[in-house]
Amino acid sequence: MNSDGSAPGCIFCAIISGEIPSDRVYADDQVVAFRDIDPQAPSHVLVAPRRHVASIDELKDDQELLGRVMAAAVTVAQTENLAETGYRLATNHGRDGAQSVAHLHIHVLGGRALSGRLG
Ligand code: 5GP
Ligand code: ZN
Repeated sequence: MNSDGSAPGCIFCAIISGEIPSDRVYADDQVVAFRDIDPQAPSHVLVAPRRHVASIDELKDDQELLGRVMAAAVTVAQTENLAETGYRLATNHGRDGAQSVAHLHIHVLGGRALSGRLG
């Protein structure tokens, strides 16, 4: 871990620092949100803490940051005008959860009728 809370080699830390460009839709002192590079729905935004946290599994003891990340996800959904038609918040942990980037992110998905199947 670097002294600024980022992790060497982490692609989302590089996006959050601005080293790698992204289409940013929200930022505050603790949370950043940017559009997914491979969107699965008309609106597909990733909401991540600035501090490197590997997944939701590491955050249960930091309920303040957990709350900030989830509240930012709802703010993004509302800003994307998804509240009336509906949206999904999802986060993956580990191999069986199909997590591919080991920096916590909440997927905000909406803009079309999503499948009810989650697995
Ligand atoms: P996961 O599978 O870990 O839940 O989700 C990782 C997400 O990050 C995927 O939906 C993938 O498309 C997205 N992603 C991977 N690399 C990049 C990138 O460099 N930029 C952006 N904006 N999204 C990325
Ligand atoms: Zn990271």
